[in-house]
Amino acid sequence: MPGKRRPWRKELKKQQRKRKRQNVAITRDRLLEEEEARKLKDCAYQQFLKQQELLEAQKLREIERLHDAEEEAWLRRDLLAHRQFRIQQQQRAAAEVAIRVKQEKELIAKLAEEQQRHVEREKREAAATVEFEEIMKCMERFLNNGGEPPPELRRVVESRPGQKLCALYERTNCCRYGPSCINNHRRPLLSNIIVVRHFFMHPLLEEENEHPEYANADGNLELSEQDLSEAYNEFFEDVVPEFEVFGYIQNFRAIRNTLRHLRGHVFVEYMEERSALKTFIKLQGRYYAGKQLNVEFANIQTWRSAICGT
Ligand SMILES: [Zn+2]
Repeated sequence: MPGKRRPWRKELKKQQRKRKRQNVAITRDRLLEEEEARKLKDCAYQQFLKQQELLEAQKLREIERLHDAEEEAWLRRDLLAHRQFRIQQQQRAAAEVAIRVKQEKELIAKLAEEQQRHVEREKREAAATVEFEEIMKCMERFLNNGGEPPPELRRVVESRPGQKLCALYERTNCCRYGPSCINNHRRPLLSNIIVVRHFFMHPLLEEENEHPEYANADGNLELSEQDLSEAYNEFFEDVVPEFEVFGYIQNFRAIRNTLRHLRGHVFVEYMEERSALKTFIKLQGRYYAGKQLNVEFANIQTWRSAICGT
């Protein structure tokens, strides 16, 4: 039965190998122990062990020292970070205080400036009132005493003294920009010509065509033109006697330009300045057809350049 004996032999061999390995290990351990015991008895070995111990202790101390150094460095960094944070906080707080102080100073300066402007405006208004009263007295003296106008009334009022003259205002005594024009508007304090702004109004003048008389004429336009003409004649007959009360009129002209800043302005040229002054005093602020009159003295060089489409 050779087939049956084989496993048994295999197991036996295995057991033999195991025992052999165990014996080898036991022998090796015993030899090592003997070697160790022999070494322990050896003085040089003793010294070697002591040296090893010292080296180990030194190594531990070095590790400890490095650890301490690292911890100290970390603490220093932490302290530095805290210090920097505190410094930044202080800087931020100082910057905020500086901004607040600056804003307060600016506010105080602004208030002082406003106060100064207010005081100056009041001064100007008071001076203007005094000047106005003086001028009115001069005008009354001129009206009542006769003779030539006093030099005070020969003045020219300028909107922006020293600035370039407004060409349109010089020509027409009107400007689309009004008081906000950047150029200088000059008007006389007294003249024999007065202008009443937006006095003659008609629906045809409300149209934004600059010169409707140049537009293509059709039936309706002709009719409107006729309407305008009739309305103007009626206005003329109604108004001229009111103005003639104050003196002889040389010229009575209404602007029929549809531009907003020109439309309906009426210029009245008197023979005498005194007549224009009477009109100015009597009609200023009066109402005509529900509209408050705004009367000003005008300085027209030539009617041709001043009036568009009279
Ligand atoms: Zn102007």
